Amino acid sequence: MGVCMNKKTIEAIVAPPPPHMVGDGFRVHNFFPNSRLIDKKRMSPFFAMDYNAKIEFSPRETPRGVGVHPHRGFETVTIAYHGRIAHHDSAGNSGVIGEGDVQWMTAASGLLHKEYHEQEFSRKGGLFQMVQLWVNLPAKYKMTPPKYQEISHDKMGKYNLADGKGVVEIIAGEFKDVKGPAFTFTPMHVYNARIKKGANQELSFPANCNTGILMVEGSANINGSAVQGDHFVLFKNDGESIQITADEDSVMLVLSGEPIDEPIAQYGPFLMNTWQELEQAIEDVNAGKFGMLED
Ligand code: MN
Repeated sequence: MGVCMNKKTIEAIVAPPPPHMVGDGFRVHNFFPNSRLIDKKRMSPFFAMDYNAKIEFSPRETPRGVGVHPHRGFETVTIAYHGRIAHHDSAGNSGVIGEGDVQWMTAASGLLHKEYHEQEFSRKGGLFQMVQLWVNLPAKYKMTPPKYQEISHDKMGKYNLADGKGVVEIIAGEFKDVKGPAFTFTPMHVYNARIKKGANQELSFPANCNTGILMVEGSANINGSAVQGDHFVLFKNDGESIQITADEDSVMLVLSGEPIDEPIAQYGPFLMNTWQELEQAIEDVNAGKFGMLED
């Protein structure tokens, strides 16, 4: 049998906090950093997680979304589970992420962007479900040039579980020597674990890494605790092993990364190390240094 490893203790199973609208296109539960249980450093390098749980949008000719706004000092990672999202930024990148796709946008030194429902999806309306992560950057990379990685579902690393019991899709990092396509500035793992009803699977991450699982679909027993849909499991930094048994066909967003041990200063869409850098960001936006983008 395999090496016997210590189980990670569950620190908290967090129910979805009350939702709020981001623009008129995203109805999100912010699991962190604003929740009582998970502060701004607890899931570092993952600074924020907004979760748009399943919602039906009615058809609309003019797409819903968020208009032009700046970012500096981090990356936005958008994972679409249902529906399609269109994106444009002042670095000249644009694209559509469809169901199962991921957009990994490095704002770094700064850009303007807008995020909308894709035109055709908007016209027809329908089921919408997505996650947006804010991934922090260490000080030495905060002012590097912006970049954009479009990670369509077919580009993800795939690890098929034995006997057709599911698949682990590796977006970033690796799982059992299968690598994810995302370039990251610090070590982290981001997976979609799709596990069939009744199947079990072990995941393993070092104790020092901050680790959590969002139950996107279905429900499961995780290290002995029942976890319902739309809940987030936060693990203590005390063991390696996570034992998952799916109670239904389940989809889990798995996050684990090495913490960035630096001061955090955040104001709105800027994530820096000091207040002085935040003031500089605002000054630079007002001076047009983040480029141009039409609404
Ligand atoms: Mn944004």
